[in-house]
Amino acid sequence: MKNFLLVIVLAIFILNIGGKTMAQDVLNIKQQDIIMISSYTARGDMENLEKALNKALDDKMTANEIKEILVQMYAYCGFPRSLNALTTFKKVAESRKDIKNGKAGKVLPKNTDKFAYGDKVQVELTGNHIQGGVFEFAPAIDQYLKEHLFADIFALGVLTYQEREIATISALSSMQGVESQLKSHIKCGKNTGLTDEQIAKILDLTKEARSGAFNIGVKNDAYAQYFKGQSYLHPLTTDGVNTANVTFEPGCRNNWHIHHKGGQILLVTSGRGYYQEWGKPAQELKTGDVVNIPAEVKHWHGAAPDSWFAHVAIAVPAENAATEWLEEVSDEEYNKLK
Ligand code: MN
Repeated sequence: MKNFLLVIVLAIFILNIGGKTMAQDVLNIKQQDIIMISSYTARGDMENLEKALNKALDDKMTANEIKEILVQMYAYCGFPRSLNALTTFKKVAESRKDIKNGKAGKVLPKNTDKFAYGDKVQVELTGNHIQGGVFEFAPAIDQYLKEHLFADIFALGVLTYQEREIATISALSSMQGVESQLKSHIKCGKNTGLTDEQIAKILDLTKEARSGAFNIGVKNDAYAQYFKGQSYLHPLTTDGVNTANVTFEPGCRNNWHIHHKGGQILLVTSGRGYYQEWGKPAQELKTGDVVNIPAEVKHWHGAAPDSWFAHVAIAVPAENAATEWLEEVSDEEYNKLK
């Protein structure tokens, strides 16, 4: 009886440890490798892709699994990105002697009704029949999506649908201007069993892609009290002219504030956001926009509700220049913005 109790206590103890490990690592190693391979492919960052590919091979991912990710990428970020990534992988594969090919992809039998096959897969992923709208306007794209992407590519079968959605979400979250597609694929990901926690982790692992040409830096704890939502700060220069890359998560913005004496220049490097001067309507900002903020003008800047946003902030030098932080931008005012 005593032994029996001891076994029960031990079992509960071990199960608890197991539970904790799972909670900390919401994504397994293979899923994390898929995320980084897809993200660097979408960004066209071959230097980091090479590292991610070597890591995936160290983690025992097979060559066929990697090839399937990189081939699928062409549907989401085009042949140039996919071909560059495959060329990089070929180079990596030739430099190592420990490559395992693993299971090979299956080609659909010749007599397959690919349109019907792809339609079924699309319904399984999205939860409904996708038709009308742009697919009626240009039926060829509907045909290619169903017969090619959701039939030829998805039928290869080395990767699971969930792994494919992880790859797609990672690629889309690493590209600009595809927020609506990202939103749909997050839904598809959930339909394949991904949890909110896992999706949050994918977005976190790929956030560097949304900081523009400069690094994302660290969580902006120093100024967190003057921001609503999460921002990141990466100082670029501190001598002479002060410049920094500031990255905002969707919905994040700073409080109303005034740059006294010297003004501020914003160079938008990524995403979509807003700049507003007190008493004037908010002005939408996109990559490449420049804002010249005069001294003594009360204003705020930050991300759009559904998009990441990054800008380089240049402090215009002046004697006794200082920033005065004021009240938050109210939800009522901010929520009017698209
Ligand atoms: Mn400012």
